[in-house]
Amino acid sequence: MAENCSHDCGSCSADCSSREKPDLKKKPHEMSDIRRVIAVVSGKGGVGKSMTCASLAVASQAKGYVTAVMDADITGPSIPKMFGVHERAKGDQFGIYPVVSKTGVQLMSMNLLLENEDDPVIWRGSLISGTVQQFWTDVIWTGVDYMFVDMPPGTGDVPLTLFQSIPLDGIIVVTTPQDLVGMIVSKAVKMASMMNIPILGIVENMSYLTCPDCGKKINVFGESVAEAVALEHGIPFVAKIPIDQSLTAAADRGTIEAEETNNYLVDFFDKIDGLLNEKK
Ligand code: ADP
Repeated sequence: MAENCSHDCGSCSADCSSREKPDLKKKPHEMSDIRRVIAVVSGKGGVGKSMTCASLAVASQAKGYVTAVMDADITGPSIPKMFGVHERAKGDQFGIYPVVSKTGVQLMSMNLLLENEDDPVIWRGSLISGTVQQFWTDVIWTGVDYMFVDMPPGTGDVPLTLFQSIPLDGIIVVTTPQDLVGMIVSKAVKMASMMNIPILGIVENMSYLTCPDCGKKINVFGESVAEAVALEHGIPFVAKIPIDQSLTAAADRGTIEAEETNNYLVDFFDKIDGLLNEKK
């Protein structure tokens, strides 16, 4: 504590232990009920973050959990398309209601609010984070066991604001093999530890290709280093998703929940679920 402390942190710049840290967390809508929130992050766009988010939600829903996806990737929203949902979200005097997918996953995305889902969203960061915060504060999420948040790519301003305002139970980092050696995992680890949020796992997407003729696994981008990176940072679980044309097709057709669509993240979700249940 500073000498002659006046106990008025607002008018003092001393960095002492008694300085109160502002709690920037927002309260969810009073009619919402959300048990666990997991953020899915990546260093850049196009690595399969939305695909991972959707696959985790499908695995969770299939296990019998009430599941939701909050599409916080405002300028590149692809979640509704993957689930084949095109109608607009409805609201009333109480709030906004998520659109429910074929198997019952609750979804909210910028695309479900636009008059024309192909309209681009050209907004500045503050407006984007404000909108996502409203997905948390103004949307009525009902009895949700697991909510997966498809974060905007990168570790910039918008994800940072969201990390601070939404209470997260954990983070999942999505990368491709080439990016894994880069800085994204270290950056995500630093950001997460500053906020006291555990990184639950790494998903290495487009990890390999299975030869359609002989079934051999080909490491298109070289040997995987996912396990080594996870070990280095103390991240408990690793999953690998191959390059699979049927996934691209399912995402385009909106059949990500269909039984015939491969889901490479079922075991990975099980392990994370087990870990979170243990912690309770
Ligand atoms: P991000 O959310 O990181 O921008 P997406 O999840 O939207 O990336 O994926 C980008 C594109 O790559 C989409 O067309 C998606 O269908 C495709 N895709 C992602 N992962 C795979 C994969 N493992 N195999 C085949 N296509 C994939």
